[in-house]
Amino acid sequence: MCQNFFQKILDFLYPPLCPLCDACVSSHGELCADCWTAINWIDGLHCAKCGYPFVAGFDSDKDILCPVCASGKNELDWIRSACVYDDASKQVMLPFKHCGKIKYARFMANAMIWALRDVDVSNIDIVMPVPLAWRRLFHRSYNQASLLAQPIARALGVKIDYDSVRRKYRADMGHKTAAQRARNIKGVFTVIKPDKIRGKHILLVDDVMTSGATFSELYKVLMRAGAASVSGVSFCRVVRSI
Ligand SMILES: [Zn+2]
Ligand SMILES: [Zn+2]
Repeated sequence: MCQNFFQKILDFLYPPLCPLCDACVSSHGELCADCWTAINWIDGLHCAKCGYPFVAGFDSDKDILCPVCASGKNELDWIRSACVYDDASKQVMLPFKHCGKIKYARFMANAMIWALRDVDVSNIDIVMPVPLAWRRLFHRSYNQASLLAQPIARALGVKIDYDSVRRKYRADMGHKTAAQRARNIKGVFTVIKPDKIRGKHILLVDDVMTSGATFSELYKVLMRAGAASVSGVSFCRVVRSI
């Protein structure tokens, strides 16, 4: 009752607004209907392992794998993403990543928690934001993956790990092929606190999954350090036809 009263006062002073367009919404961290429908959410049939969305009307049972996962090329236990990386989600991603729009983190993390609806998260011990190199952290002043990882770790009731893995600085990978991205990311991560990793089921968190090379490289170093399993979740993912 008391809490409701204070919530009403807070809502009066700071009315809940859509973080993207400032339209009134019913609760904080929600998108308005127009912004919600503009985003291409991955809410249909998808690969049981990597979350790759299949075209509408694809006729199959629930546990189908995409060709990449069926050929054993995805090592992570599973990956899920909330939406497709396209012109609409770019309007979220670019300001969030490069222009300090950290107020987007709440609805993005909520969408990522929703994206975990069909996977078993009961064994996850640690949520780990994909580490940022110090030099990049210095320029940007925040790690966008950490902002997303905090509410996800809270929702799963597990700890967040910021410091077991260090990342070397390497120039940006934008617009490169999957093979170039894989080469560029190779060797950038080092596990510096293996005691915190050994035997743990780890959920990696990133804002966008492009080719999957970052998740894959982290998988390799974490498993080498004795992790029990590695999974991943991103807000959006690049979807190329496979
Ligand atoms: Zn809106
Ligand atoms: Zn797949």
